[in-house]
Amino acid sequence: MRAVIFDGRLRFIERFPEPEIPSNWALIRVLKAGICKTDIEITKGYKNFKGVLGHEFVGVVERCHNPDWVQKRVVGEINVGCGECRQCVNGLERHCPRRRVLGIVGLNGCMADYCVLPLSNLHMVPASTTDHRAVLVEPLSAACEILEQIELTGSEQAVVLGDGRLGILCAWVFSTVLSDVTLVGHHPEKLKMAGWRTLKTTQLTANRAHSADIVVEATGSGKGLVDAVSLCRPRGKIVLKSTIASKSKINLLSIVVNEKSIIGSRCGRFKAGLRILEAFPDMPLERLISADYPIEQALEAFKVAIQPDTLKIVLDMTGEK
Ligand SMILES: [Zn+2]
Ligand SMILES: [Zn+2]
Repeated sequence: MRAVIFDGRLRFIERFPEPEIPSNWALIRVLKAGICKTDIEITKGYKNFKGVLGHEFVGVVERCHNPDWVQKRVVGEINVGCGECRQCVNGLERHCPRRRVLGIVGLNGCMADYCVLPLSNLHMVPASTTDHRAVLVEPLSAACEILEQIELTGSEQAVVLGDGRLGILCAWVFSTVLSDVTLVGHHPEKLKMAGWRTLKTTQLTANRAHSADIVVEATGSGKGLVDAVSLCRPRGKIVLKSTIASKSKINLLSIVVNEKSIIGSRCGRFKAGLRILEAFPDMPLERLISADYPIEQALEAFKVAIQPDTLKIVLDMTGEK
């Protein structure tokens, strides 16, 4: 099968071996796969991952033990837990210390004609949901995780730092429950594109110090955390979404004195993402997709994905094999 792999360098391979299907797992024919910041980080050595890249996809179940799923269009949760530890038993496979993660840790990913995942990881996609919307369920669910971590009354003032894909998704998800949400970024065209419902967008954070109830850091830069701490009001909450380990020095004193909470936030449940997709069919997810590339042009696609003006690049596997 065709596959995009990283083995020290990024490569497109025409004849990569098809995956074996463990029992209770499904073989999925991938239709589309998104290129995510994490994939780009992996090509720089993140997690020391070697193998097929990709964890954002929509596909069709080709083979599995349960006939109800065969030929169904699906998206898949990316964490595969050991099934035995305390986290797994409590439904928190995404925090299992021995977990494998699709295209990130110990498990070949979805930038290929086929990938495999446990059937229990899969969710059927409603017919009304396009492939482009479905491929964004993974990052959308990651944004939804914030709503699970923070209890909201509806009157909170939220600020999201970072006008990349994840920042915009977090701002949109907040806008489904809060009326006072501001997205702060550096790219005027991205900010313009992000407008939805009552969401405000701005390039400036001046005059906003210590005012927001919730600040989400999704800039992917160390400085974002420093800004987040200063924007957050006393006893407010700071949500860290950037997986890039922050190397910047932050003033912990301000956090102690002002009793600010810092919350780490990563993957979310797909149920939450799919629920939001159904409840808000007008959420303009399509705007986040900059372009589709056939899988053969994956290297070119990665080059475009790295550009600062690019939002989401999608690889398409439906073309000729
Ligand atoms: Zn991702
Ligand atoms: Zn486990």
